[in-house]
Amino acid sequence: MIGRKAVFLDRDGVLTREKGYVASADQMEIFPYVKECIDEIKAKGYLAIVVTNQSGVARGLIAEEELKKMNRLLTERTGVDAVYYCPHYEKGIVAKYAKPCGCRKPQTGMIDAAVQKYGIDPVKSYMVGDRAADILMGQKAGISTVLLESGYGTARLEEPVTPDYIRKDLRDFVRTLIL
Ligand SMILES: [Zn+2]
Repeated sequence: MIGRKAVFLDRDGVLTREKGYVASADQMEIFPYVKECIDEIKAKGYLAIVVTNQSGVARGLIAEEELKKMNRLLTERTGVDAVYYCPHYEKGIVAKYAKPCGCRKPQTGMIDAAVQKYGIDPVKSYMVGDRAADILMGQKAGISTVLLESGYGTARLEEPVTPDYIRKDLRDFVRTLIL
């Protein structure tokens, strides 16, 4: 079977302005160029799949229902094919989510689930993010990695990483995305 290709996208700092913990849909600020970028990604034959750590849920800062509302809004406004999120955090305060899990980046649970569901070939796919965990996850999953400077910025990485590509923002990445 020939696998499909995908662009995996982090949310905060990639599709939306980095603001720490965004607690409600009306605080979520989608960059104005995202819709056209997602259109271009899909036109080039890739699935566009969001993979986002949202430990604010486990930390008691975001209600999961509100997060689902944000995901619906993001999907409507940008046309992404799917949104995967991890609400967990081992040291969280909400019992239901305060546990270690295999989906929190840099672990690969979210990518694994999408690869399985959509029949994706990791070798033909990209992980686009603004933080070390995004790059480390992509590398573990065997996906090409792209670090964007539109979020926290490369100077504020939690740990040194070596992405395959560095781009200014999503527009800059999409311009160079091969068919
Ligand atoms: Zn999780």
